[in-house]
Amino acid sequence: MKEDIWQSVLGEIELSVSRGNFSTWFKNTELISIADGMAVVGVPNVFIKHQLEIKFKELVIDVFKKLDQPVSALTFEISGKQSSELEKKKSQNGDELFAAVNQTSGVSSSRPSLNEKYTFESFVVGSSNDLAFAACQAVVNNPGKKYNPLFVYGGSGLGKTHLIQAVGNEIRNRHLGTRVVYLSCETFVNEFLESIRSKSTRKFSEYYRSADVLIVDDIQFIASKTATQDEFFHTFNTLHQANKQIIISSDKPPKAIPTLEERLRSRFEWGMTIDIQAPDFETRYAILVTKAQNHGVELPHDVTEYLANLIQSNVRELEGALNQLLAFCEMRNLKPDLTITTNLINGSRVRPKHISPKQIIEHTARYYSISISDILGPKRDKEIVMPRQVAMYLLRSELHMSFPKISHELGRKDHTTAIHSVEKIEKTLAFDQTIRGVVQEIKDRVYA
Ligand code: ADP
Ligand code: MG
Repeated sequence: MKEDIWQSVLGEIELSVSRGNFSTWFKNTELISIADGMAVVGVPNVFIKHQLEIKFKELVIDVFKKLDQPVSALTFEISGKQSSELEKKKSQNGDELFAAVNQTSGVSSSRPSLNEKYTFESFVVGSSNDLAFAACQAVVNNPGKKYNPLFVYGGSGLGKTHLIQAVGNEIRNRHLGTRVVYLSCETFVNEFLESIRSKSTRKFSEYYRSADVLIVDDIQFIASKTATQDEFFHTFNTLHQANKQIIISSDKPPKAIPTLEERLRSRFEWGMTIDIQAPDFETRYAILVTKAQNHGVELPHDVTEYLANLIQSNVRELEGALNQLLAFCEMRNLKPDLTITTNLINGSRVRPKHISPKQIIEHTARYYSISISDILGPKRDKEIVMPRQVAMYLLRSELHMSFPKISHELGRKDHTTAIHSVEKIEKTLAFDQTIRGVVQEIKDRVYA
């Protein structure tokens, strides 16, 4: 039924827009629901969502009406449809993956991995990050010319990913048609290895070497991966020679990345190398005020001051504490005040000592009905990876373990994986109620 309606709508739209537009913007869309004059259309990525909202919303509503489907409110949502197809392809064959990625990148978008919430507007500038901010803006105004590469480094949770994605978002918005490719270095490594396995390294190389702007997050992950370093070296040269903009982030300066080949290190230093420091009090204060406002909440001064003093070295943790407070108050219909804040935040930072890493891993495994050896082992199935990430997250949030310790506990050598896992879960927690429930349930069992 829904499918039929949507097919008719698409049929009409096809008649009124160019073929290029039609296949670029309407491919892989679906009707998720239609009721009481409200329709929700699923789209493959945030870029397409944006463009549909700007350019085609009216048209789609008109077509619905024309077909006697009185729709007055239309929203677009990113649906899982296409990404799950990509996943499937990935496990089948690297060639197909890249074909699919290329195809869906369409005329001007990139992989759907830039998060549109990371903008310059939502970034609070202070003395700890103003130089990095300025350098990023300079790159937007002059891609490929001013600072190439731009190398941004700094500790975890200080806004590197936010800033470099803001560059990508801004360039893409200003120059439609620019191919911005953003990815984590971990993805680069994994896809490269996968392309070797599936004998599709040429496709892999072509994909990345045809970017107009290449943004690689957490480059430190390339340490000691010789073959990937070689591949990245050539990608870098191709792009740089063609004056394509390269942006790199890292948790440390090029000099301090262990086992980084000299030729890469020197190239990383060719352009602009700039660091982000931990924010000072004013910046932390401003970040809290801004983020609370985004949630429609005005934080009392003493609460803001308390949190800004308590959490000094990591914006992600600062944001985490704020979110925890806001969620707590929202659920109970309370206004945040200092008493609630100190009870809640202090309480969660002072951990009972009797909980061990083993217990956390055990409870996580049991909750998901998998074995502990699955969590500790090498399997990369989705059913295993997610629990593993949750376990790492809990080791961090409950026991405040360092990333190397977490990796060690999980039998992993590289602590970058732990960083990514914890980040991933933290990010998911922000919008996914199911996972919040899961984490809470496991915690309850751990502390029971
Ligand atoms: P990193 O990549 O350096 O580990 P992220 O960019 O992921 O850090 O930042 C962690 C979180 O903190 C993100 O949600 C980001 O939006 C937020 N954040 C960091 N710095 C700022 C800032 N100056 N203004 C607003 N939000 C920030
Ligand atoms: Mg990051």
